[in-house]
Amino acid sequence: MAKKPKIKTPDWILKGEKPEKTKKKGKTFKVRKCPKCNSYDVSVVIGEVGVWQCKECKWKGRTPKEEELDEEEFMKYLDEKGEEVA
Ligand SMILES: [Zn+2]
Repeated sequence: MAKKPKIKTPDWILKGEKPEKTKKKGKTFKVRKCPKCNSYDVSVVIGEVGVWQCKECKWKGRTPKEEELDEEEFMKYLDEKGEEVA
């Protein structure tokens, strides 16, 4: 009996959907972090495309750290940011 090839087209390709990153279980959230002081308080600079700035240490640049959080970690992150969780 001939073995079928292991690779088959994943469902998301058939459906035309983008794949979710499955590094962690469940929902994950991507957040940006300051590479200098590790603060989550970074945001895009208005008027400067692709430039990020940290409100804590005034770091400014195009490459903030990226971190993937699961739901629990993300709640903590929102907590830290002082944003309300609906
Ligand atoms: Zn900073």
